[in-house]
Amino acid sequence: MTTQTTSQLTRDTIDIPYRHVTTHFIDGAWQEGQGDEIIEVVDPATNTVWGSVPVGTRADVNAAVEAAHAAFTTGPWARTTPSERAELMLRIADEIEKRATELSLTNTLENGSPVAETSGAAANAASIFRYFATLAPELEADDVRPFPNGQGESLVRKDPIGVCALIAPWNFPINLMVTKLAPALLAGCTVVMKPASPTPLSFRIIVDAITAAGVPAGVVNLVTGPGRMGDLMVRHPKVAKVAFTGSTPVGRHIAAACGELLRPVTLELGGKSSAIVMEDADLHEMSARLIRSCMRNTGQTCYISTRILAPASRYDEIVNMVTETIATAPQGDPLDPATVFGPSANHSQYKSVLAHLDSAIAEGARVTIGGEPAQLGGELADGLFIQPTVLADVTPEMRVAREEIFGPVITIHKYDDLDDAISLANNTEFGLGGIVFGTDQEKALEVAEAMNTGSVGLNFFASNHAAPFGGRHDSGLGVEYGPEGLAAYLAYKSIHRR
Ligand code: NDP
Repeated sequence: MTTQTTSQLTRDTIDIPYRHVTTHFIDGAWQEGQGDEIIEVVDPATNTVWGSVPVGTRADVNAAVEAAHAAFTTGPWARTTPSERAELMLRIADEIEKRATELSLTNTLENGSPVAETSGAAANAASIFRYFATLAPELEADDVRPFPNGQGESLVRKDPIGVCALIAPWNFPINLMVTKLAPALLAGCTVVMKPASPTPLSFRIIVDAITAAGVPAGVVNLVTGPGRMGDLMVRHPKVAKVAFTGSTPVGRHIAAACGELLRPVTLELGGKSSAIVMEDADLHEMSARLIRSCMRNTGQTCYISTRILAPASRYDEIVNMVTETIATAPQGDPLDPATVFGPSANHSQYKSVLAHLDSAIAEGARVTIGGEPAQLGGELADGLFIQPTVLADVTPEMRVAREEIFGPVITIHKYDDLDDAISLANNTEFGLGGIVFGTDQEKALEVAEAMNTGSVGLNFFASNHAAPFGGRHDSGLGVEYGPEGLAAYLAYKSIHRR
């Protein structure tokens, strides 16, 4: 498996473990689904079906939750210590790294993310497991808090919250599930996971890594199927916590269900983040970081800063730099290591991005590059490719300035002074990411502090497993990563004594 190089690959000969499957992972084994419907898995680069998974039923969800519940309450897992679970997580990380190539290729075939992106997925997943393993001592340390009046003390216990329902989207199907799974396992929870329908196969490889690492039966369960299965998981009486990454409308629906049930929920939702370019920004450096910070994964990354706010004094210069940078980034076969822009991940996303482009043009935005479906040849002729696009002269009332596009589209907006830029950046219902490009670090930090958002990068953006990541407003509820992300999987108990 690891001897494959992408230059030798053809789609039919790629060596990956899962293509057409009929099972869910329940109680430590791949078990036949109880329904007879399937979901087809489409390669968006060629628009052809290459795999399929079963559509789960209520019975499958029930079996998975029951297995997780039994493992939580009575299995050997319930008797493990945080340190023992951390050891196991380090083994999981090693097992994931052994499967890096198959993970990368399966992910690329599922959602068209270029291999330049997916080749890092295993290392990133392993690093999330290893990071959370370092937090085991925090769970084990005695936490004794004296009463402020001096009359006694409280022992603060951090119990695992219970069975967790974990639901992920299609844009980073490995990372966005691992982000939930790793803290859940360290806490001592058990889980039922549902990947997104367009990307149901890659996470099976992570499940294999978990099995090889020796995680007991029932701790980790995986079912496939459409959104209604996620709904069954969210509402199941034996589920104690829900963690979801996906769109704001579905997040709102899940929040309503969890509100009714008084069930803790973490929601990582959509974004509409801005890059504020200060007058003293080094445009050469910004150009080098532009794709990763503002267009990562063909623009299908929740936190990227797709709205570039440019000072009037350097507006034309910035529009030219952004246009030239995008022009030099290759679009093509996501299996080609040189490819930067792949296809849209699925048909509904493709249509939605094109509709946003139509509305931008109708509302008066200026296309400096792209703006249309991209016509590639050969086996990619029917692929879901859209030309990487830069829209200049975008104003706040335009639809593309307000809604998440989730495709290869950058919008550029002009501002007069930094107060104007901050107010433009904050003029959104979302609050997930953001960047400040500038050489005066103190001023850049001041601007970052004024941005009403969950994370901001100075001259770049990357999320840090050790720091909380989450959105404000319509971008979500709660945080992932860091000790704060672990806390979401804990149930606190205070034992008072004199
Ligand atoms: P969706 O909200 O459509 O789906 C996300 C997941 O929820 C999928 O597994 C989906 O299943 C499932 N689902 C759908 N309906 C329900 C329901 N009623 N109850 C429970 N689960 C349900 O999002 P996308 O997959 O389209 O992902 C793209 C979105 O995710 C973007 O808006 C993006 O910004 C956001 N995102 C946010 C991130 C963050 O950290 N804040 C990170 C990455 C993406 P199915 O696929 O079968 O419909």
